[in-house]
Amino acid sequence: MSLIDTARTWVYTASVKGRFQRYHRWSGALLQAFFFVTPWVSVGGHPAVQIDIPGRRLYALGSVFTPTDTLLLAIMGLFSAFALFLFTAVYGRLWCGYACPQTVFLEEWVRPIEKFFEGERGVRMARDKGPLTVDKAWRKAGKWGSYLVLSAIVALTFVSWFSGARDLWSGSGTFLGYSMTAAFTALMFWNFAWFREQFCNFLCPYARFQGVLSDEKSLVVTYDETRGEPRKGSGACIDCGKCVAVCPQGIDIRTGFQLECIACARCVDACQIVMDKRGEPNLIGYGTLSGKRDVFRPRTLVYASLLTGLAIAFITVLVTRHSVDGFVVRAPGTTYTTDENGWIRNTYLLRLTNHDNHTEHWDVTVSGLPETTEVLAPAITLEGAQTVTVPVVVRVPPGHLSAQSVPLSVVVHSHDDELSLSATFMSEGG
Ligand code: SF4
Ligand code: SF4
Repeated sequence: MSLIDTARTWVYTASVKGRFQRYHRWSGALLQAFFFVTPWVSVGGHPAVQIDIPGRRLYALGSVFTPTDTLLLAIMGLFSAFALFLFTAVYGRLWCGYACPQTVFLEEWVRPIEKFFEGERGVRMARDKGPLTVDKAWRKAGKWGSYLVLSAIVALTFVSWFSGARDLWSGSGTFLGYSMTAAFTALMFWNFAWFREQFCNFLCPYARFQGVLSDEKSLVVTYDETRGEPRKGSGACIDCGKCVAVCPQGIDIRTGFQLECIACARCVDACQIVMDKRGEPNLIGYGTLSGKRDVFRPRTLVYASLLTGLAIAFITVLVTRHSVDGFVVRAPGTTYTTDENGWIRNTYLLRLTNHDNHTEHWDVTVSGLPETTEVLAPAITLEGAQTVTVPVVVRVPPGHLSAQSVPLSVVVHSHDDELSLSATFMSEGG
């Protein structure tokens, strides 16, 4: 099916109330608070969380990660992936149903806005079948206008995670920032106004991997066929269709588990209302395809072991890393020069990045060369998250070097840390 398939059957989702919808409200409120508020929070004068792509930095709760933290970033990425694998193996698609931004925005904003302007499911279906009238036009315009405002707010917030909220929202952001905001606004609007559940069915990579990430003991939404069938007969299902009407994916859970199901439990709440009136237990609920709930199984134990190992590795690397990182290179176009008094001079560029959020002072020395070696380098003051590049001149008196290339270490010291960086000293040799 094409992504812009005009033959798509539009899903008219009915609203529903119930226990699991209350859980949706809470998870949605918490996640939106996190999403909208985080870009405005600062720690030590820097964003609490920001993915600064042009600056190649990740700010995270007072720490700054740069490309030199590749190992830490790789461990974080692997940890996130295996955490998702473990969660999916145990809880199936609960992420999709309760925490995915797509679900949260559709549930908390898009469908309520649609209901506000166009009414409940039956009213919407009837109006859409009818001719274009002034009433229909203003309702559609109101809905789409609201979606546009919502899309712009979501896009601005999303881009704020990368470029910082204050500049972007005050109008002093970059051209790139506003271009990305405009592009995301258009994408969001298209998604909210039309694409909706097709994102889960055709685009989401997580949904595509469900088959391998979950098994017959993972949590899914199931229909009790034994008790429910035959419908409208001796079975308990009265075929009211409410579970189908409320489904945002447009599926009928009574035909069996389907990959499109996002485990949102709207059908569970719908059937609960019906069965409560009849004084019978719900026909739909969370369960497993095997009928057994077994959290401790080989794949979950493997994931848990890997996560434990990754957590230990992350903590070890984090606590043993220096508060600065950097590298030293020879000044471009230079090897060595000989001063008037015969001393051999090598010039380097030292680049340092502060990983912390507090200001620190650093001195530069070298080791591996004769004691009479002179080092000309400025004292370095690095503010939180700052990167500086300084020249370092190393001079060795004549007659003290036995080889043309001598390895040395450029050592930077603070009051409680020391970082050693490798370089070579070039000369005409002994
Ligand atoms: S079948 Fe039920 S749980 Fe699955 S998507 Fe539809 S309403 Fe949500
Ligand atoms: S809501 Fe319950 S009773 Fe009604 S059709 Fe669905 S499963 Fe049957």
